[in-house]
Amino acid sequence: MPTNKSSTSLRDVIIIGGGIASHTAALYTARANLQPLVIAGIEPDQLSTTSVVENFPGFPEGINGPDLITNCKKQAERFGAEYMDGKAESCVKTNDGFFEVGVDEKKFLTRIVIIGTGASARSLGIPGEKDYWGRGVSTCATCDAALFRNKTVAVIGGGDSAMEESLALYKFASKVYIIHRREEFKASKIMQERIFRLKDKIEIIWNHDAAKVLGDGKLVTGIKIKNVKTDQEKELNVDGMFLAIGHTPNTTIFSQLVKLDEHGYIVTDKRSRTSQDGVYACGDVQDPIFKQAITSAGTGCQAALEAERYLENLKATGDY
Ligand code: NAP
Repeated sequence: MPTNKSSTSLRDVIIIGGGIASHTAALYTARANLQPLVIAGIEPDQLSTTSVVENFPGFPEGINGPDLITNCKKQAERFGAEYMDGKAESCVKTNDGFFEVGVDEKKFLTRIVIIGTGASARSLGIPGEKDYWGRGVSTCATCDAALFRNKTVAVIGGGDSAMEESLALYKFASKVYIIHRREEFKASKIMQERIFRLKDKIEIIWNHDAAKVLGDGKLVTGIKIKNVKTDQEKELNVDGMFLAIGHTPNTTIFSQLVKLDEHGYIVTDKRSRTSQDGVYACGDVQDPIFKQAITSAGTGCQAALEAERYLENLKATGDY
């Protein structure tokens, strides 16, 4: 159990991450008067780069992802949550039983850490992908679709993200290819149906992998794709390649602090507790299955309520 330590900078709660799970944890811990500090990161969260969210309860017409995130943050700030930009670069347990979070040159000391660092878009690791990153290769159609007006693009993947990226792109692009490594999509039926209805603009190429990104030195000019059954390769002339092949959890700095599963996700119990007392995790960083905005918000709430309970227990036992 932590021993008492007099430090003006010792906080009750630090929340690491800037997505909906973190904002919800911030809202609940702020309302519990724990004055959380949220280290929000430097990269946009997933909802901030998505378009309309149609499945978050309470918005019958849907709500823009960035608006949803802005509203959640404002709501938490209204109750006293403090936000700072910057990336948490370390998070360790101290000899006193507290946690020290490093951000740039600064160190923050806290009794509780709530981790909501989410998961980042995966890349393929094929030749040319890095060279043309941001010059035709993208992981965010919502951000970049308008750059491809009247151009041809390829989307890689067969999940809901691939469907969503394609639906964002076809409004601008003259032609969208979806390249998928199998002959059926993993995406939900409703998203698949939307894609199938747009046959004239969206062409699906089944059983193919992207093998190489081609370019003129400045921008993407095409991709080489390979039939996974025959190994036969062909070139597609495209101006852009959008990756929608899933995500990797952002857990590098926590690997010595809490238990991770074989895919790098933080292992939590039903109460958002990690293997380390005083450390909770919420949202996609601990969820390889559901990954929904609403489940992220739900686990953010759980983590906050558990944090509050943990502090009450420290106070009750004289360990605060
Ligand atoms: P996902 O469901 O894991 O799908 C990833 C897709 O990429 C799969 O089709 C997979 O192929 C393919 N893939 C993975 N690695 C690949 C590789 N190296 N090369 C080629 N293809 C590869 O990921 P997601 O689409 O990002 O969705 C994640 C979660 O978010 C899901 O639960 C999804 O329902 C949810 N989501 C919901 C919405 C919405 O409701 N509007 C929008 C976006 C995401 P295989 O099928 O062969 O495995």
